[in-house]
Amino acid sequence: MEQESIYKIGIIGGGPAGCFCAYQLQNQFDVTIFECNSPLKTLLLTGGGRCNLAHAEFDFKELTKNYPRGEKFLYSVLSKFSTADTIDFFEKIGVKTYIQNDMRIFPESNSAKEVREKFLDALKHTHFKKEKALCIEQNPLRVVTDNGSYKFDKIIIATGGHAGYNIVKYLGHNIIEPKPALTALRTHECLKNLAGVSIKNVKSCGFTDSLLFTHEGISGPLIYKISSIKARDKFPYKLTFDLSEEFNFQELLNQNPHKSVKNLISEFVPKSFAEYITPDKKCHMIDGKTRDEILNKIHNFTLTITSPVKGGEVVTCGGVDLKEINPKTMESKLIKGIYFCGEVMDIDGFCGGFNLQNCWSTAFCASQGIITELLEF
Ligand SMILES: Cc1cc2nc3c(=O)[nH]c(=O)nc-3n(C[C@H](O)[C@H](O)[C@H](O)COP(=O)(O)OP(=O)(O)OC[C@H]3O[C@@H](n4cnc5c(N)ncnc54)[C@H](O)[C@@H]3O)c2cc1C
Repeated sequence: MEQESIYKIGIIGGGPAGCFCAYQLQNQFDVTIFECNSPLKTLLLTGGGRCNLAHAEFDFKELTKNYPRGEKFLYSVLSKFSTADTIDFFEKIGVKTYIQNDMRIFPESNSAKEVREKFLDALKHTHFKKEKALCIEQNPLRVVTDNGSYKFDKIIIATGGHAGYNIVKYLGHNIIEPKPALTALRTHECLKNLAGVSIKNVKSCGFTDSLLFTHEGISGPLIYKISSIKARDKFPYKLTFDLSEEFNFQELLNQNPHKSVKNLISEFVPKSFAEYITPDKKCHMIDGKTRDEILNKIHNFTLTITSPVKGGEVVTCGGVDLKEINPKTMESKLIKGIYFCGEVMDIDGFCGGFNLQNCWSTAFCASQGIITELLEF
């Protein structure tokens, strides 16, 4: 181990962002993480237990386009630490990765547990305190916890998207109101009979992806994206879906007069959905008005969205106002010596590894900001 400097760094939050900061700083400074739960516990939930740790977009400018909040801010952040650096880091700590067909990057073991264990092994020179940080005092900087008060030269706030906002508000920072993003949505219409039905290549709000019906409403990759871009919209709102490619319905009705219209439509949408939108009739019995109604339900299927599904969000839209953070160093523009990284900031990305990439990249910039400030000047 390199000789410890006299400088002390306190990190509040032992999630992916806080731990990556500690990894970058632990050999030069005396680093302490305050984690009220277990460190890196959140990582175990990621990617359905497989940990989708990044996305195989190697052009950082393209990568920024996957963040509905934070795109501009991340421009310089991702230029300094991007996908290739993430893969290198994991390789260095013994986690080999692979790229899935949809460009998501996973550990070869497909095990978030393995990622967590290897990551914790790499944090040997970091001190962990299982204490809840309550507030930060200034002049000098101190972390006050439920068990004591500790003096630091620099403090990093990495409390994630669910907690820690009080600590930040107490410092005088503005918090952009937290809202759930990447979440399933509840609908006014009862869709219970369709629960479990999935339709591929559905178009809505400029996206094309899979739609899944649930007991409470709708979910799936398409809905996660829509919930993200509409996270700040007022409920209720309406969504319209195009569920199939164009087809000449009248011609098909003429060609198949004795076929059930449900079976005909089942060639374009799942059978249970066809049953949901079509009358129990033969094709020759369908008049022009009914034909147009059915087509409208396929190409302009409209639902009223009443709320997100409670507690089901993957990420929080909102957090520390980016206007108050230096995008080069992650240092607070209001209080010298305070830094932010990860989801506590008003940054969130789509599904696919973008949210963890935000953690790695902002944590890297915060660490470099501290190293430059303490060791290079
Ligand atoms: C089910 C699920 C699956 C996900 N899958 C993926 C995925 O595959 N890929 C991806 O990119 N993203 C995924 N995400 C999102 C990703 O997990 C988060 O964006 C990421 O964990 C944020 O990291 P963070 O370190 O900023 O915050 P967190 O992971 O929330 O960590 C913050 C830590 O701070 C601690 N803390 C908070 N307040 C205090 C306090 N006052 N004192 C002490 N400790 C405190 C908390 O206990 C927590 O451990 C997923 C999220 C969920 C919920």
